[in-house]
Amino acid sequence: MRLVTSVATLLTFISVIQAQNSTTAATSSSTNTTSTANTQSYPAAGAKPVPKPEWVELIKSANITNAPVLKSNGDDGPSVSGTDKYCDWAKSGCMGSSIGDCPKGQWGLTFDDGPSEFSPILYDFLKTTEQKATLFMIGANVIKFPQIVKRAFDEGHELAIHTWTHSFMTTLSNEQIIAELKWTELAIKEITGVSPRLFRPPYGDIDDRVRDIGTALGFTSVIWDHDTNDWMLAENAPGFKSEWIDGNFTEWIAEANTSSTGGLSLEHDIQKVTIDAAIRNLPGLQKAYKVVTVGQCAGVPSYKEGNATVPINTTVSSSILPSAATSAPVAPAAPSATLSREAQVTTGQSAANALGASALVLASFFVTLFLV
Ligand SMILES: [Zn+2]
Repeated sequence: MRLVTSVATLLTFISVIQAQNSTTAATSSSTNTTSTANTQSYPAAGAKPVPKPEWVELIKSANITNAPVLKSNGDDGPSVSGTDKYCDWAKSGCMGSSIGDCPKGQWGLTFDDGPSEFSPILYDFLKTTEQKATLFMIGANVIKFPQIVKRAFDEGHELAIHTWTHSFMTTLSNEQIIAELKWTELAIKEITGVSPRLFRPPYGDIDDRVRDIGTALGFTSVIWDHDTNDWMLAENAPGFKSEWIDGNFTEWIAEANTSSTGGLSLEHDIQKVTIDAAIRNLPGLQKAYKVVTVGQCAGVPSYKEGNATVPINTTVSSSILPSAATSAPVAPAAPSATLSREAQVTTGQSAANALGASALVLASFFVTLFLV
């Protein structure tokens, strides 16, 4: 059973709690336990979402590259060996229409896989420096932490899509890709009133079929060119040291004057250790670059509503946010079980296991040292 998360049920549950101090509300909630006027069912976390029929119609007349649906090799995803016929970034580094860097002097600041219970720590810090970031959110986490999503939007961050289930997108059917993008878009729209334009494929797993579907739905894909590999810190990858993240940032900062381009980094707001690493290194980055959102550095409007790269004023009528509790603190929850990492360490390499990737990062770190 795929569609099991009923916001109506959630709201009813919240209503019951809120009604404990209100006789009137208690009467209402006890007599209306099956539906609300604004019913919206979302796919369950971990389940493969299916699209609404009207979403499938949106790509019917689009010219979608007829690339095969790739077979996944478990957690490693699809094979990245062999010839690249369809501009597969993970396989060859082919960018196609994807955004992958920022102009010289600019740095795109991005965080993936949130929101999480730790995201407010990051937001608190960014607020102290008036720094905005692009936040690629997992749909299942969006409906889990709606108030954190609302806060991110209200504080001027650029909300973007990171699919619903954090799957390898080249292994999904056209309809599954539609569902991954559109359900996440809808959840963010319900909470904030805006529809993100940008999406990032988990693991950087994207080819022209995925890009074309995204384009037909009004989205632009975003990769990265500077990977912190902070997810290995979050997962306690054997041998990985947080100092390596700092060392990479030191090198990236040193490149500011000599590099022909700016940068677009990949970080994660999934654990406190990854957020701590971001906080340690952002001040140095800000001194070397103009640190911006992806929309700002690429000149792409953040949302489908209007052409702004900053939040626009909207009237939100959300069935996710509890209307009487928008200012209430969000209760801590168990860490998301959603797989939280981008496994491609560099383009053209397989999604390495933690040990292999650690060795690769160690090697690249020393290579970097010798180059300086
Ligand atoms: Zn991710």
